[in-house]
Amino acid sequence: MTDPLLWQIAPIALPVAGRPELFPVRRVYCVGRNYIDHIREMKEGSERDDPFFFQKPTDAVVHDGSAVPYPPLTDDLHFEGELVVAIGAAGSGVSAEDALGLVFGFAAGIDLTRRDRQRDCRDLAQPWEAGKSFDHSAPCGPILPADEAAATLSGELRLSVNGVQRQHTSLKLMIWDVPEIISHLSRSYQLMPGDLIYTGTPAGVAPVQPGDRISVEITDLPALTVTIVEGETSASQRTA
Ligand code: MN
Repeated sequence: MTDPLLWQIAPIALPVAGRPELFPVRRVYCVGRNYIDHIREMKEGSERDDPFFFQKPTDAVVHDGSAVPYPPLTDDLHFEGELVVAIGAAGSGVSAEDALGLVFGFAAGIDLTRRDRQRDCRDLAQPWEAGKSFDHSAPCGPILPADEAAATLSGELRLSVNGVQRQHTSLKLMIWDVPEIISHLSRSYQLMPGDLIYTGTPAGVAPVQPGDRISVEITDLPALTVTIVEGETSASQRTA
């Protein structure tokens, strides 16, 4: 088979830092709101609601170092820097106390968002699909096994655009911490090896343009850097 489109149906996998094996990706889950400062900047939602989740297509995963085409259907593509949890064992109805036992490792991620379409979805009481679940919308860095990431969950996240810091938080400021997120999600779905969970973003989200270089750094983890490039269909559609 030499069809250049074959890669689009090939299994999606992420590198594991320091190891030869790959981490095959099964599903991509994301937490909707998980830092109070981001809820306040978005002017939406209660700060004490249960966590809620949405999914992105598995083939929306983009590797470190990639060029990300500016997507169609938006004039307002936003970055959201996030800690990503990689699940390594099956579990459902898992308690928060047992939840970290399901974790294979952690990675730095970006929940790319068509903010204008997300706001439309909110205003029309429609699902977030158009705002969140588009091609190339889930950049994710190499996964560091959990036993090598001892300081991560009490560490910090920084996102920069073209070298200028735009987001900075302690991961301890999550409304729902990683064990609680896993526990909640496992009540709705059977978690399986290969699942990724994007754990929400702090304040500072903002638009990016073709040519912008986005980097996410999280304590102990390999950095993630992607560059936004002009998309095939975006230039003629965009008015900005
Ligand atoms: Mn997000």
